[in-house]
Amino acid sequence: MNARPAVSLAALLALAGCIHASHAAQPALSPNARALRFAKLVDGDGRITNDATIIVDGDRIVSVGSGDGVVPSGVAVVDLRKYTAIPGMIDVHTHMTYWWDHAPGTKPFGPGGTRRTPAEVATVAMENAHLTLETGVTTVRDLGASGYADILMRDRINRGEAVGPRMFVAGYGLGKATPRPATAPPAPAPPASAAPASAPPAWLRGRISSLADIPLAVKTQVDSGADVIKMYGSTGTGADTSTTQTFSYEEMKAAVDAAHALGKRIAIHSYGASGGRDAVRAGTNTLEHSVDLDDATLAQMARQGTVYVPTIDHNRYYADYRADYGYTDEQARGLDAYRARNIETARRAIKAGVKLAMGSDAVHMMFGQNTRELGFLVQAGMTPLDALGAATVNGAEILGLADRIGRVAPGYFADIVAVDGDPATDINAVVNGVRWVMKGGAVVVDKRPTP
Ligand SMILES: [Zn+2]
Repeated sequence: MNARPAVSLAALLALAGCIHASHAAQPALSPNARALRFAKLVDGDGRITNDATIIVDGDRIVSVGSGDGVVPSGVAVVDLRKYTAIPGMIDVHTHMTYWWDHAPGTKPFGPGGTRRTPAEVATVAMENAHLTLETGVTTVRDLGASGYADILMRDRINRGEAVGPRMFVAGYGLGKATPRPATAPPAPAPPASAAPASAPPAWLRGRISSLADIPLAVKTQVDSGADVIKMYGSTGTGADTSTTQTFSYEEMKAAVDAAHALGKRIAIHSYGASGGRDAVRAGTNTLEHSVDLDDATLAQMARQGTVYVPTIDHNRYYADYRADYGYTDEQARGLDAYRARNIETARRAIKAGVKLAMGSDAVHMMFGQNTRELGFLVQAGMTPLDALGAATVNGAEILGLADRIGRVAPGYFADIVAVDGDPATDINAVVNGVRWVMKGGAVVVDKRPTP
């Protein structure tokens, strides 16, 4: 007994709407529209389309289909059928402005390097931006810079004055001001002529001395043009893999609340477990680096959607480049030991259902290696498709751009990468196989062998 009419009025109306919509959704293509043909498309959400045809017009994707039949008449075809398409990837933890000129007698983290204005930094660091594009990364979240050189880079790229990935930037990261040790000799007095009437407060540069500084520092970054807030909740950087918590739960909460009140998300850095736990309790949007997170914290992350950005590969990088940094073999062993704990923590996070995203924590010579993190995510238990998801849809969600980047779908930015191999079964196809990159409809990398 089926009382329902074969075709309901609602269904007829929906069908009519659908026909109408498909007519309306067929915008007139510009003369610059192109059809990109691929062996297959592996999308950020794991969807696979064989014999894929992607119609791109301007900076957007118009449609995704299969075969020659879906190419509108008169639209030029770009034959990439030797390759698999994936979405442009998102590196959610970079330090793009960290650039080193290899001047003799200097180290990447200084001192003694050439002094540069923020505008000069933004110019030389475009090299990092280019190298990042070559890895198939078309968007980055840049987590901490000096002098707002990150904002200068972002704006030059957005205005089309320079070629680089889309940047979402943090300005100064918030760090605990280290009080001068009582035993230290007195600082030399500045020359009278150079002494300002009153020194600008250190929180302008993200140096935090008290709880009251935190909302001021957050607002300063946002007013200066930051897209996201970064807080350093523990020690740990370079060869230093110490895990000492530097901001209390109350201080982290003040930063989270101040960022959210201004409509911004926050990333909290914590190498250690206690800082990680407090950052998650405080409601950070993403947690960077942490090892040894306890089960209750992992469960809370899964429940509230806190994304874990383990940045496993950056300690491999520091160990590999220890000669440049002047790190000892013992420090390199410390980096290796931390990396093993990091992989183990990622493995437990994946099992606990925590969302992970790909963050390289790239500085200096690590640009161009942004996606090597994916190998570690697979080592920690992700399938290659899930790892690709970490580098695409999860990154897009972190940025609040899940409807614009991270997928190859109608209406999304035409951020498309051609890779050699099959990313659905082999993550090395993504890490080492990038041959061609389109960002916002423009081809920004073409390393295909010349026929
Ligand atoms: Zn970082």
